[in-house]
Formats: sequence, C-alpha cells, structure tokens
Amino acid sequence: MSPETPFDCVTFGFDRVRIREALSVLGLNGEHAGLANRIRSEVIEEKADALVHSCCLTLARDRSFALIERSIGIECFKQTWSGHLQNYGRDFDTSEYFGERLAIAAAFVRAKIPLSILQLQHSLTQQALISNLSVKFVDDAATFQSFVDCILKLTSLDMYLSAEGYHLPQIDELRKALARLRKETSRWHQEASTDQLTGLMRYNALMETLGHHIDIAHEGHEGPGGDALCLAMIDLDFFKKINDTHGHVVGDFVLKHVAGRIQAAVRDFDMVGRFGGEEFVIIMTNTHMKLAEVIAERIRKGVMDTPLHLKELSIPVTISIGVAMLREGERKEALIERADKAMYEAKKMGRNRVMVAKDADESGTLPEL
Ligand code: GH3
Ligand code: MG
Ligand code: MG
Repeated sequence: MSPETPFDCVTFGFDRVRIREALSVLGLNGEHAGLANRIRSEVIEEKADALVHSCCLTLARDRSFALIERSIGIECFKQTWSGHLQNYGRDFDTSEYFGERLAIAAAFVRAKIPLSILQLQHSLTQQALISNLSVKFVDDAATFQSFVDCILKLTSLDMYLSAEGYHLPQIDELRKALARLRKETSRWHQEASTDQLTGLMRYNALMETLGHHIDIAHEGHEGPGGDALCLAMIDLDFFKKINDTHGHVVGDFVLKHVAGRIQAAVRDFDMVGRFGGEEFVIIMTNTHMKLAEVIAERIRKGVMDTPLHLKELSIPVTISIGVAMLREGERKEALIERADKAMYEAKKMGRNRVMVAKDADESGTLPEL
C-alpha cells in the first residue's frame, strides 16, 4: 500500500508553494506540530494497535471494506494504518508527508476502493482520538479544546490529500497516454519524411529542410564560409536503359545502392534527399562553391568507380551533377532551378560530370543579382 519508490509530489503539482498554501488555508502552523507531538505521546504511543483494531471493526460494517480485504489484505491495511497513526501529524509541513498521503490515495484508486472509505478511515481515527483525549483531559477543557482543534485540522489535511490523490492515477495515465502519442507522432513523422526505398529524406522533408537552411543562411552574418549554402542536383545517367535491360526490380536495387554511395561520399552534416525518381539533392551548409565542387566530384567518382553487383550482373552506373550556390535573397525554387540547369548542362556535355551553375562566382563571394 505504501509506495515502493519515494513519491515525487512536486511532479503532481505539490511544490513548496502549494504545500504552504494548503497549510495556510487549513490554518495549520508550528503550534499544531507541538500539539501533534503531545497527541502521539498522550494517546497513540500505547494504544495505536487497539485504536486501529476498534476502528477496523466499525469500518468492516461498510460494504466497501470487502474490497480492502481482497486487494490489500486486512493485516497489511491494519499495519499501514497503525504506522500511519504512530506518525500522526509528524512533519505535516513536509513534502514527504504530503507525498505519502497522496501515494496512499493513489494506491486506493488503483485497487478500485472508493474514496469514501478512505475518508471514513480518517473520520474514525479522528473520533477515536477525540474520545480518548476527552476521557484523559476531562478536567482540562482548554487543553482538550486545543487538541480537538489540532485533530480537526490534521483530519482536514488528510481528507484534502486523499481527495487530491484520487486524481493522480488519472493524471499519470494521461501523461503516459501523451508520451505514447508523442512517440507515435514522431514515428509517423519520421516515416512520412523518409523514402522507403533509399532511406533518404523524401521530397517534402527535403524542401522543408532546404527552406529552413536557406532562411538561416539569409539571416546569418557574412563570415569565412559562414553563410554560404550550396545545392547539388544529381541525376542518374541512362537510368531508363537499366530499367529496360534488367527490369524495375534491378532498377530499384541500383537506386538504393547509388543512394548509399552518395551518402557515403558526403560529409556527416550534409543533407541528402531523394528529389524524385532517379534524382537526388544534397544540401551543403557553410560551404562555398569550390568545396561543394570537390564534394560533388567525390560523389561522382564514388558512384562511377565500381560497377554495382547483383548476382551475376555487373552494372556500371554514372551520374551527372549540377551545383549552385545560394545567392543573396534567393528563394529555394530559384536555387533548385539553377542547380537543375547546371545538371542538364552536364548531360549535354556528355554526362558523368559535374557542372557548376554559371551565375555562381567560384571565388566564394556572392555575385550581384
Ligand atoms: P538521362 O541520362 O538523360 O537522365 O536518361 P535517363 O534514362 O536516366 O532519364 P529518364 O528521365 O528518361 O529516365 C528516368 C527513369 O527513371 C524513368 C523511370 O521509369 C525511372 N524511374 C523513376 N523512378 C523509379 C523508381 O523508383 N524505380 C525504378 N526502377 N525506376 C524509376
Ligand atoms: Mg531524371
Ligand atoms: Mg536520368
């Protein structure tokens, strides 16, 4: 019934401030801490078990008691109650006190025991304590009155915490459901933005990423290589022929492995995506044209150097690449168009080559529009 791990009541909204507020509303203060000590030594210390036993007899008359019997067990319930009594009102202004009571209420909810029975338990404890003290302090009305005041307030606190604790499992469930939903959403997002065949970014994700990095490049300050962004457009040469000769499945195999070779040839932070059927795009941030050209050349060689092997087939593959560097204020559509034009230039020049968009200055400074 008691929590196995310390109950983190801050997570459930009971931080120092809220604890202080609750105590202030109930009118509990340092004076009551002293009174609670005396109540423990006057009545509880020697009578805790007897008090619990007699209260349990009364509680057992409520039909819900059977639930406690079934889910918690009478002995365990009595022991917890007795332990509870022995610490009656001790350190009631601490998060441990709040946490323990919230956790017990939460355990009751999980055991599907109605809140009323927990409230009844607090009521019976209150009655038992008051009636014991009334006998003991029959000749000292003022002391008795201050004990009663303290007991009423501590019972109110216990009742308040039980009621609050009854919401916790629901909050807990809600949090778990939210975490599950977040995980699912991120999995769906990941799936939706990844191309199944190549494992690269899909068109939509690619465009979103490009737009984002272009914004950063435009906002950034001019520094050595700081703002430059280059885009490479890659297209497989005579890919239709591969499909026509070996079939679509082999075509897919080629696409997948070319994608792998491209990915292997770029730097860790370069972003590669599948632009369309047999076209790929690379976004190179913080990169001037000279370096982008070197990387593009490395990719071209990486694809061309070794034919792809599938069973007895040896399939030579080459690619054509167009590279463009972002101009001041340029939008992604225009940048893509310039890289695409450069790529078609490479095709016209005989394929298997890298061509640079004409209007990008190789020195690395941005050209005038
Ligand atoms: P070029 O050198 O001029 O680019 O010639 P090409 O044959 O590569 O160009 P073309 O655009 O004529 O052909 C591209 C082919 O790519 C046509 C299309 O059937 C094929 N293709 C597009 N997507 C896929 C795919 O997902 N799988 C396979 N196997 N083929 C695809
Ligand atoms: Mg094409
Ligand atoms: Mg092609």
